[in-house]
Amino acid sequence: AEDPKRRVLKDVFGFDDFRPGQADIMEALLSGRHVLAVMPTGAGKSLCYQVPALVMGGLTLVVSPLVALMQDQVAALRLAGVGADTINSSLDREANVAAWRRVASGQKRLLYLAPERLMTERMLEALSRLDVSLIAIDEAHCISQWGPAFRPEYEDLSRLRHIFPNVPIIAVTATADESTRSDIEARLFAERVETLVLGFDRPNIKLAIESKQDSKRQLLRFIERHPGKSGIVYCLSRKKTEEMATFLEKHGVTALAYHAGMSKDAREANQNAFMTLSGVVMVATIAFGMGIDKPDVAYVFHTDMPGSLEAYYQEIGRAGRDGRKAEAHMLYGLGDIRMRRLFIDDEDASVEHKRRAHRRLDTLIGYCETAQCRRQVLLGYFGEQAEPCGNCDNCVDQVPRADGAAEARIILTA
Ligand code: ADP
Ligand code: MG
Ligand code: ZN
Repeated sequence: AEDPKRRVLKDVFGFDDFRPGQADIMEALLSGRHVLAVMPTGAGKSLCYQVPALVMGGLTLVVSPLVALMQDQVAALRLAGVGADTINSSLDREANVAAWRRVASGQKRLLYLAPERLMTERMLEALSRLDVSLIAIDEAHCISQWGPAFRPEYEDLSRLRHIFPNVPIIAVTATADESTRSDIEARLFAERVETLVLGFDRPNIKLAIESKQDSKRQLLRFIERHPGKSGIVYCLSRKKTEEMATFLEKHGVTALAYHAGMSKDAREANQNAFMTLSGVVMVATIAFGMGIDKPDVAYVFHTDMPGSLEAYYQEIGRAGRDGRKAEAHMLYGLGDIRMRRLFIDDEDASVEHKRRAHRRLDTLIGYCETAQCRRQVLLGYFGEQAEPCGNCDNCVDQVPRADGAAEARIILTA
């Protein structure tokens, strides 16, 4: 059966992939936990509660500090066909009463309110008679006395968890500093909260791309630079995972295969070995990885180009969770592009879907081809600004550009 949150993501919002962090946050809410999500601007924080709001049904309250933000979001949701309303100070009394009637009659999934409106006894009393399933607090740094935009009304939101004791609460903010975070945690949740801090940068992971020649040899050479380390090797096909694992074993590397075509027992045995032993190389299709949280994975090696930049980011993110030096290494060649294009064209999907998929592939190709700092390009795609990182192949192997050009001219005219 299709994952309901993914279905909503596609059918309602028209997106094919979750941005980093979104799926985990939504899962936490859907299983009834509180979440504090710290993600950069542009990361897609609104969707983290909008999708669960639709999956859960009932009414989701969204607390937002600015009327303009509320109106923007409500307008965007309505365009997508979602029942959303706002009660705020820019509307006259009639309009607010009409909005309240729509909400109270159960027609609406999301209600946007300023904290001053929400935290009145009358409003709280009225809302507690409705089927409130989720509470979202946007720009949650306003809660903190150390936050830049301190508003006393926000403090009062700490009462919400008592007034709606069984309703999950999500607070989102782009303000990542430690003191603001712990202040929000203490006030809103009394520490019963899952905090996810998602600056997208994983500075300890070295990013590199190598042009694909002989992938078996290239893989072996790479692994030999990391003796005794745990690593994940992603391959496009099931068959290739087995061939690669066998090849590595022959060369003295402890390697196991993992793909959806193996029996459940064999898969579990290999996964257990990878999780509990050190120095095992898991050669897998993308079937491997969901929910894998092994801290000491020293590298993720792609023998084939992944499906999108989102997928790539997610896959390499399994390396270096312990904060130690780790590597993301991809082999990339024209054959990969051809293969991926074919996959898309062969899909039984709408023209529009295929067009989007080709566009996403172009983005990934752009990342593979760039001469710029890879981290800048990757983070830029997720809306995060960065300086050249000094920890990617393009930063490290940078040949002075002027010399390169001069050399090229000589070669080309010779
Ligand atoms: P934030 O509040 O974190 O700054 P928003 O929630 O306003 O970010 O989202 C920023 C932009 O990213 C919006 O245009 C939104 O539609 C888009 N977006 C969010 N999630 C996704 C996704 N999974 N795929 C593609 N675009 C997305
Ligand atoms: Mg936002
Ligand atoms: Zn770099």
